[in-house]
Amino acid sequence: MSRWAYGVLVTAMVLWSAMTVVAGWYALRGGGDDASAAADTRPSDPEAPGDAPALTGREIITRPGARSPEAAAEATPRPATGRIEPVPAYALGAGGDTRVRSLDVEGPRPQEAAPRAKGVVVLDPGHGRGDPGAVAHFDDGSYYTEAESNLTNAEMLRDRLVAMGYDVYLTREGAGRGPGGPLPRQFIVSDLFARVALARAVEADVYLALHGNGATVGSISGPETWYCGKHEEGAANERLATVVQQAMVDALHEYGYDPPDRGIKEDASAHHSGGFCQFVVTRETPVPAALLEFLFLSNAADAQVLIDPRAHELLADHLVRALDEFMQERGAEGD
Ligand SMILES: [Zn+2]
Repeated sequence: MSRWAYGVLVTAMVLWSAMTVVAGWYALRGGGDDASAAADTRPSDPEAPGDAPALTGREIITRPGARSPEAAAEATPRPATGRIEPVPAYALGAGGDTRVRSLDVEGPRPQEAAPRAKGVVVLDPGHGRGDPGAVAHFDDGSYYTEAESNLTNAEMLRDRLVAMGYDVYLTREGAGRGPGGPLPRQFIVSDLFARVALARAVEADVYLALHGNGATVGSISGPETWYCGKHEEGAANERLATVVQQAMVDALHEYGYDPPDRGIKEDASAHHSGGFCQFVVTRETPVPAALLEFLFLSNAADAQVLIDPRAHELLADHLVRALDEFMQERGAEGD
């Protein structure tokens, strides 16, 4: 080798070494454009001294060659350098995966499921809105209306059903007066259909109409319950009427009053109407329905019971058990 050639070779080797050192320094410094160079030269030991800040709970190490979601969204890709990147804002909730649960009291936890009602009951206190229904007249000139008695029974029953976990709707509330005052008599039938519409709207499971009775003959006395057998729920209606009637008989017996048990009555056959149920609310409701007639306001002994709040309390006590029993039977059939 000539002296000249030897000089060229040594110079080239020195320059090559210098370039390698400079390139390595540049890559380690983190200013390089080549991600693989950075990955290759990154210290493999995370504990190795360097300029990386200490890890905190809010930071992650970016994998070599991987792009952060933020960088991916940028027009110019940001090179991965092996430095610690902040956690993207969308991940700070640590709830991205709904299966993730935390033992940390401050951590994410499943939503409490709202307790489901045991069922939806529509109670229809008969009359009201200016229609008194049957009226009991007393010797001192005072009177007591069926509308008031029906509302008392419905409200007491509602409170007990709600306490048991049912959703309960009343077809009328308070004094029972419609907007603008009493309902004109010619609208009473459409009012009955409106009550049925409520049962449809709230997807009721059962419908109970609460009434009192009236007769031109004052001697007629005692409770009875009506149902429509000519109905897709005819069998359930009969069962509902049976438990409701028994509840009334038991309540009156506990009260200390034992009038005749007038029993359950099938609407279409009892009214001799050619197989057509007469009572709108029990005929038109799409769910099991019954109509109870607690006592006769036209009978003096029955009326004395009706003006005693204790009789209404006892009726509600027995009716709530009857309705709950009926609903549990229905639920067992549905399972
Ligand atoms: Zn009535």
